[in-house]
Amino acid sequence: MTSAGGRDGGLEVVPVGVGSAYARYGEAQSCYLVRCAGAQVCLDMGAGSLNRLQAHLAPEDLTAVVVSHLHPDHMIDLLSLRVYMAWGPAAGRVLPVWGPPGLRDRLAAHGDEGLHALSFAELAPAGGDVDLGGGLTLRYRTVPHLEPTFALRLELNGASVCFGADCRPNDALVELATDADVLICECSFGAGEVPEGVPHMTAADAGGTARRAGARRLLLTHCYPEFDRDEALAAARRAAGDGVEVQWAVQDHAVRA
Ligand SMILES: [Zn+2]
Ligand SMILES: [Zn+2]
Repeated sequence: MTSAGGRDGGLEVVPVGVGSAYARYGEAQSCYLVRCAGAQVCLDMGAGSLNRLQAHLAPEDLTAVVVSHLHPDHMIDLLSLRVYMAWGPAAGRVLPVWGPPGLRDRLAAHGDEGLHALSFAELAPAGGDVDLGGGLTLRYRTVPHLEPTFALRLELNGASVCFGADCRPNDALVELATDADVLICECSFGAGEVPEGVPHMTAADAGGTARRAGARRLLLTHCYPEFDRDEALAAARRAAGDGVEVQWAVQDHAVRA
């Protein structure tokens, strides 16, 4: 379970769901709770994450949700969150949701009941900065994956957590993750190979991204169940070099930025 860290003036990230497009038993899909004294923000909300999130806070106490892209493993639990926010114990509050253009319509395709409990704001394809309140700033850039996909960086008083979303290796993520305290990076294909034309990474790609960015710590995530986790970790460490602390993102285990 998470510590009380992040509420004492610092910034921390709690992996809530670390699964890939299909997850291992026990894994929820993409969701990272980033919090500090004045803000509690979920990056993504994949399948199973709303349930697991409640180990850490009441969902109505989120100050924002930011969605990286429209693949279901990164946003599908917003369908449940809207019901919770509209008719659950916090009915009447409205939760800000930042995401790609089309996010609201995608949810409304399943019926627009409860959508009044979420207020939608679009991330701009050109990238940008957003003041999320509580001293927390969101910076974002598009990365090569489903069009558009946004890599996300949250900063508080010089501390930073960068989330690469899903993507193939690219310079935009390296730039966004420059000198990050924590880089959360996908490694869908573990120690294997990415099939031709597939916009995802191996663990070595993730390690190389962290090394190029000068990130202090790399949290590997979003790995298909078939790949050996120990081999992937070793491959990421070889690629990252000595300057980067590399570990798996572990559900419920908070990491300080
Ligand atoms: Zn994904
Ligand atoms: Zn994706």
